[in-house]
Amino acid sequence: MTEVNDRPCPQCGAAPGELHKEWDSIARCYETGEQLIACECEHDNTCWPSRWDGEYPGVKQCRELGMYFTDPIVGVTEDLNKLAAIPKTWNRETQSWDIPDWMITRLTKERSTSVQ
Ligand SMILES: [Zn+2]
Ligand SMILES: [Zn+2]
Repeated sequence: MTEVNDRPCPQCGAAPGELHKEWDSIARCYETGEQLIACECEHDNTCWPSRWDGEYPGVKQCRELGMYFTDPIVGVTEDLNKLAAIPKTWNRETQSWDIPDWMITRLTKERSTSVQ
């Protein structure tokens, strides 16, 4: 296990708990969870960067949900594309995605039926 929660953001250097810089392509919009540089919500005229929590946004949730795929270069890794494809709502309090219970149930079922 690596120490995951004390690394600065690899792009903008924000320490865990700090907000990303506005130009950072890793940063999510604080209000919507969309990629900040692509977000157009213009909350209070401008989007806020999200908080860096020591890991790439969504990685922690992929792990909780058991979403992995095998990348030809890095090997088994968290499947952020799969996370992106499922229904979810952004929780601005926790700065992460809330996954609906029925979706979690479905994913759990998928996992238990796809064991080799
Ligand atoms: Zn950053
Ligand atoms: Zn926004």
